Amino acid sequence: MKTILTGLRVNSEFTLGNYLGALLPMVRLANKYKNDYNVNIFVPDLHSIISEVDGELQQNIIRSIKIYFAAGLVANENVHIYRQSYVPAHSELCWILNCTVPMGELSRMTQFKEKSDGKSSVNAGILNYPILMAADILLYDAEYVPVGEDQFQHLELARNIATRINHKFEKEIFVPPVETRKQVEFMGIENGIRIRDLVNPEKKMSKSARSENSKIMMSDDPAVAAKKIMSATTDSVGKIQYDMFNQPGVSNLLQIEALVNDVPLQDVISTWAGETRYGDLKQKVASSVRTMLEAFQERVAEIPDEIVIEYLEAGEEYANSIANAKLLEVQHVFNLR
Ligand code: ATP
Ligand code: MG
Repeated sequence: MKTILTGLRVNSEFTLGNYLGALLPMVRLANKYKNDYNVNIFVPDLHSIISEVDGELQQNIIRSIKIYFAAGLVANENVHIYRQSYVPAHSELCWILNCTVPMGELSRMTQFKEKSDGKSSVNAGILNYPILMAADILLYDAEYVPVGEDQFQHLELARNIATRINHKFEKEIFVPPVETRKQVEFMGIENGIRIRDLVNPEKKMSKSARSENSKIMMSDDPAVAAKKIMSATTDSVGKIQYDMFNQPGVSNLLQIEALVNDVPLQDVISTWAGETRYGDLKQKVASSVRTMLEAFQERVAEIPDEIVIEYLEAGEEYANSIANAKLLEVQHVFNLR
């Protein structure tokens, strides 16, 4: 059985953008494929400490797993949820791979350049994390790794590392993840969705946005979230239509309405075609978001911590068995065994 692997950093709360653009598509993908694929959902806790130590990491991990379930994940025996640092083979393989990758290849990565730009000093983790990511993938022969566009380059690196090592040792040790173009096909159209900032709709919604009104957090009081929608920036065109370029604010509202109610965007666009009153649209979207958040928060609150821990421990037992077997194979070809 082939493997789909996905992870999402959990350092902070999720925005509506993270939820609709990353989490929900991931959960739908898992539900869709879990009878035919292994679905590995891991918590990249070793990635979480790269920039600084997160004092709330433990609570954040538990909450993030609850969020997967609240988002509709229905786990079966093929769905494996585990914490990266509970599977030591990740760090072990990471070291071995480190010894095969030229520094230049890492320092040329766009993410590294962006994150180190203008800083007098950056830690080695920022340079090396794509190698840890390669280990996360290659330990499980994961062919499908749904990631955002910002991670495509790192996925290519994982492919290159796998191919090079296979070639060097003339042995199919690793299964390279499929090329990014095919990953995108596999993920379907939902990927690439960008929810916009409510105040500055030319930009995407980000958790690091300064203004509270720019973003809706999944933990927001649903009434407060509704108010944020009511005060969202629109435009002076005076027509409700989907035109991300000229009317990003209104288009964003239509997009949110579709995703929150799980209906095709085209249906929402048709429903509002010919309408001119932005206030009506805002009322409708505000009420949809409010209803969704109420139900979501209720579901999160209902899940006991013990259930989450049970899932994690079962997942870690499975992950260790797969990862250790792969690591041993690698240790053999590197003459460590
Ligand atoms: P930051 O401001 O710290 O960069 P962020 O909100 O952009 O935070 P990330 O942690 O960078 O969140 O991304 C987590 C995931 O959410 C990624 O898969 C990313 O593609 C997705 N994502 C982030 N923002 C949006 C958005 N506005 N719409 C859709 N998906 C998003
Ligand atoms: Mg971001």
